[in-house]
Amino acid sequence: MRYRINRKTGDRISEIGIGSSYMFEAGHDEAVKALRKAYEGGINYFDLAAGHGDSFPIYGDALHEVRKNIFYQIHFGADYTNGEYGWSLDLETVKRSVAKMLKELRTDYIDYGFIHCQDEVSDWETYKKNGIYDYILELKEKGIVRHIGLSSHTPEVINKIMDEVDIDMLMFSINPGYDFGQGEYANGSTDDRTQIYRRCEKEGVGISVMKPFSGGQLLDASLSPFGKALTIYQCLKYILDKPGVLVALPGAQSVREVEALLEYENKTDEELDYSVISEFKYVDFNGKCVYCGHCKPCPMGIDIGLVNKYYDLAVSGDLMAVEHYRTLEVNASDCIGCGHCDSRCPFSVHQSERMQQIREYMEAACVK
Ligand code: SF4
Ligand code: SF4
Repeated sequence: MRYRINRKTGDRISEIGIGSSYMFEAGHDEAVKALRKAYEGGINYFDLAAGHGDSFPIYGDALHEVRKNIFYQIHFGADYTNGEYGWSLDLETVKRSVAKMLKELRTDYIDYGFIHCQDEVSDWETYKKNGIYDYILELKEKGIVRHIGLSSHTPEVINKIMDEVDIDMLMFSINPGYDFGQGEYANGSTDDRTQIYRRCEKEGVGISVMKPFSGGQLLDASLSPFGKALTIYQCLKYILDKPGVLVALPGAQSVREVEALLEYENKTDEELDYSVISEFKYVDFNGKCVYCGHCKPCPMGIDIGLVNKYYDLAVSGDLMAVEHYRTLEVNASDCIGCGHCDSRCPFSVHQSERMQQIREYMEAACVK
């Protein structure tokens, strides 16, 4: 398992985590085995916006002995007091639900306490007015909540909340469908969404990713808006290439499904290559690099995707990206303009020209 560091909290988080939306459907024993399998495979990050309250005792039984080695995202506003999932903006209901979750998880602390599911500015106003945000802060003061998160599907609302309060993790819905206006939570334009990724990277806010397969649509040619199926591995790689992203949270409910997710770590570059999306209807990158790495290998050993990512972040004001660029052993200054990447790029990026641009920009930025 590969791990990524949340720069705001220092937490070392597995790049593959587990989402719990349908964990309970497998039944207690299989779900316990699946969670233990995930933990043994190096997964240490679990989202608990579960589809049903039955999920919490399952987690408690599976993982309470290793609690100190794992991270839980717990949602203030996800109500399980009656068993089924419900969304609540009522403070007393939220308090009861959080207490129930902690008891059933057999824990007394929350790694990431989430401002849950804010998709309208009015949700946020009500959330604050009803004292739920203050309650999270109160628990943080007491050490029960360690860090604060925000879950939302809507860039406009994310920006509004991030302008107002300090968060340590954003849970956002990312996949190639949503990024190009296709699917239930395809909120915001491609540029709005890209701006969120860059903002999080710049501010050190990690992103945990929900809906990585668009509820399974992207895996089935007959359901996909693109008319072609992607694999779970292509979707995961796409997500994990986005700036700011720390962990993808696919759902899993059986040992077999967890094993399939763990296989991500062993896949070859060819198996992870998602550049086929360049052929899809609706996908238009206008010659912008998506960091996919399809143009590899560069004869000079330049990691073309990474150099481009640092450049885009630097241009959008992320000074840390310039520092990261500096540490690369081989960078745009080493480009010999051979054009191999130009001919290989399915997204029509004129990369050899872009490398000159990056070289000039970074040389100037590094002198400053
Ligand atoms: S230049 Fe093209 S192929 Fe290479 S990383 Fe960027 S988008 Fe992918
Ligand atoms: S043009 Fe530059 S970046 Fe592209 S493959 Fe050749 S040396 Fe590498």
